[in-house]
Amino acid sequence: LPERLIGNDKSVWVEYIGLALKYKPLNLGQGFPDFHAPNTVRNALANATLGTNPLLNQYTRSFGHPRLVNALAALYSKLLSRNLDANKEILVTSGAYEALYATIQGHTSPGDEWIIIEPFFDCYEPMIRISGGIPKFIALRPTKASGTVTSADWIFDKNEMANLFNEKTKGIIVNTPHNPVGKVFTFEELQFIADLAKKWDTLVVSDEVYEWLVYQPYKHIRIATLPEMYERTITIGSAGKTFSVTGWKIGWAYGPENLLKNLQVIHQNSVYTCNTPIQEAIAIGFEEELKKFGQPDSYFTSLAEELLPKRDYMAKFLSEVGMFPTIPEGGYFMVANWTALENKVKLDEETDTYKDYKFTKWMTKNVGLQGIPPSAFYSNEHKHLGEDFVRYCFIKNDENLKEAADILLKWK
Ligand code: PMP
Ligand code: GLN
Repeated sequence: LPERLIGNDKSVWVEYIGLALKYKPLNLGQGFPDFHAPNTVRNALANATLGTNPLLNQYTRSFGHPRLVNALAALYSKLLSRNLDANKEILVTSGAYEALYATIQGHTSPGDEWIIIEPFFDCYEPMIRISGGIPKFIALRPTKASGTVTSADWIFDKNEMANLFNEKTKGIIVNTPHNPVGKVFTFEELQFIADLAKKWDTLVVSDEVYEWLVYQPYKHIRIATLPEMYERTITIGSAGKTFSVTGWKIGWAYGPENLLKNLQVIHQNSVYTCNTPIQEAIAIGFEEELKKFGQPDSYFTSLAEELLPKRDYMAKFLSEVGMFPTIPEGGYFMVANWTALENKVKLDEETDTYKDYKFTKWMTKNVGLQGIPPSAFYSNEHKHLGEDFVRYCFIKNDENLKEAADILLKWK
């Protein structure tokens, strides 16, 4: 490996998807729905590729299919109460992954520091390192050890956060709603971060792929809407999460033209353009959502409503087996402390360094249920903070969640 890649070669997804294929457990690991996406987008994709317009199967505009960037501009102009220029302030990417990659590659010079909040979606760290940047970490810590813990109980220390900012700071990556904890950052927390970003003149990258997955009574706040923040914020979204089509791999970034320019340079020289029929289908999905905006039959509203009982059911059965779940305010993952069950697993049968890796692998092989080890979402120095936890995904059919409960209760 070339030097810049050394140490960046491990991926929890590659490893655990391999394990799932081999052992065929009930898979609550990688985050994806096991039920159909809405008919609107599935029919739109069929029509795009089988319909009368042959050009919908050909290359489209590099920075985003016109119909899709127009739909995204209409949506986010409304949500941000500002007029977004569809052609200059939006970039369509190959999943939110590419939006993150283009943002970090496009804005990092050697030695630039990026602040990331642990646990973090695991690709942030290697993306920063590969681009020559230096990640600086700050952990969310649960403030409660017993009773009902919610993701709101996971907080960062304000002094610690303030002390991370300095002249070398290029930016901070915020993920709200958060993967894996499910935290929906409060206005006050976002304002605190925004004030530091303004004080030190840094960027804010806001990973909002779960923006529509927020449970009542919590509210998603876009940091780009805070005073004087649009100018320094790049916000990232995902069609996979928005319309439950994770296999479609379309995402986007939006922000001011001068900041998006850097992303365009990476995009035009790597991916160049994303696939056309899927962009057309997602555009139609957004057009339909815009017509139903705020109404009960809008998918943006109904999906979170449908997930709420699944979340509560998972919290109940995890508690029943003796785990301590954190109830998420958003997203579709739940982290749970499993250490009360340590005497039921043979951790020494696994060779991994971290206990949560041992636990999740042992469970996949011997109990038939897969979760993700949260230490994958921490820096080397802080991996111990994730070791007592497991992450399960609950965007699954009720039958499969029931089966997960049965597997655990039988094992216990
Ligand atoms: N950010 C977060 C926080 C995620 O959980 C994911 C996984 N979907 C992504 C980015 C990447 O999204 P996509 O599948 O659209 O590339
Ligand atoms: N975002 C999803 C998760 O956290 C998928 C990640 C991936 O496949 N790389 O499970």
